Amino acid sequence: MTGNDGMVIVGAGDCGVRAAVALRDLGHVGPITLAGAERHHPYERPPLSKTTLDNSADPLPKYIVTPERLATADIRLCTSVTAEAIDRTRKLLRLDDGSVLAYRKLLLATGARPRPLPMAVGLARCVTLRTFDDALALRAHLRPGRRLAVVGGGFIGLELAAMAREAGVDVTVIEALPRILQRGVPPAIAAAIHARHMAAGVVIRCGHAITSMVENETGLHITLADGDMLMADIAVIGIGALPNTALAEAAGLTIDNGIAVDDCLTTSDPDILAAGDCCSFPLALYGGRRVRLESWRNAQEQGALAAGTMMGQHDAHRAVPWFWSDQYELGLQIAGLADEAVDVVRRDLGPDAFLLFHLAADGRLLAASGLGPGNTVARDIRLAEMLIARRAHPPRDALADPGVKLKSLVVAESPAARHLEGVVT
Ligand code: FAD
Repeated sequence: MTGNDGMVIVGAGDCGVRAAVALRDLGHVGPITLAGAERHHPYERPPLSKTTLDNSADPLPKYIVTPERLATADIRLCTSVTAEAIDRTRKLLRLDDGSVLAYRKLLLATGARPRPLPMAVGLARCVTLRTFDDALALRAHLRPGRRLAVVGGGFIGLELAAMAREAGVDVTVIEALPRILQRGVPPAIAAAIHARHMAAGVVIRCGHAITSMVENETGLHITLADGDMLMADIAVIGIGALPNTALAEAAGLTIDNGIAVDDCLTTSDPDILAAGDCCSFPLALYGGRRVRLESWRNAQEQGALAAGTMMGQHDAHRAVPWFWSDQYELGLQIAGLADEAVDVVRRDLGPDAFLLFHLAADGRLLAASGLGPGNTVARDIRLAEMLIARRAHPPRDALADPGVKLKSLVVAESPAARHLEGVVT
């Protein structure tokens, strides 16, 4: 058992690792233990649906931090162990290898898992993509002429579809909703991504529920609601993710679309925090509504914020949600939450690149999204993020006009940001 000045973190993903390192950087001198269920040294998840699937390159995991960095910071990493129970009265965490860890503060960074499709459960030809091992198993199937069905037109499925198509695989995406990327992506961007997939030869079937899946030695037979049938060698089920809350739930912590935390990431138990994909939190920038984000940067930011709270700081979550996706040569970025917007302003950056600004009824900029080759939209989205953070009401005409530099709008909003004139070019 570690001493009761120990900080214990469950889940060695982006959030948990970031928190462990930040605890040491913030000056915690007692033990820090990071316990994770996976067998690998902690790695980044975003490459799993991108470069990891590229059969022409070595399938190496991208480490979040090197083993040397963990050793230097004296962070104890326990891999292949699952946390089974929390004794909140005695402040003890029990692991499935029989060990028990005493904690002063406990962080749950347990992430999320793929949402199961009941009819696919138990079928050998139906897989999911969440871990490095999942990606390794999947990439073995990405060979010319193989038939891949992607069930769900979300980010992970579409990134995978792009990689598979580039490897010469026959790809069909099946989406039950009327369009791909229905959740959180504006229609214009979804349409451009749809068109890019079609140009690459991906078949996309929107508005089609699956009524049955049957497998035999010839393949997987998928029947759609309209009676159409298609065959695949393998199907990847990408219909969203569920937060890993079982440990918190069994300990009696409040659950509300994830482990419910306050704006400093504390759960209903003051000595237990939760952060990253597994938690829902009040987002002050959007009127304090409770959200759960599944994004790499959020996991990193909340890991650092949780470490601060564990050290006795009282900083509230302030970051603007931000997400990116890479498909083919296209980079998509979204800052903020667009779902409550009533007006959209478009700014064209070139033949293949554009930005959308999502405005509230009073003209406040709620979100910005952009699509273009490579990093074309990155700088503008970063500037838009500053406007969103400042709750700015930029003029509609200026947003639409590519001749108006966004940084001038940031400076106009806050003269203190004048230094950006030289920094953000
Ligand atoms: P996770 O990374 O899920 O880590 C949680 C860890 O906790 C897991 O290793 C799990 O095994 C472990 N665990 C759970 N329960 C227990 C337990 N009881 N005991 C011990 N260990 C436990 N985001 C973007 O912004 N852009 C992208 O392009 C992007 N691409 C992605 C591609 C893929 C294929 C996936 C899966 C995700 C992608 N994401 C992307 C999302 C991003 O990777 C996640 O939001 C982020 O990794 C979440 O980090 P986390 O630490 O909260 O959770």
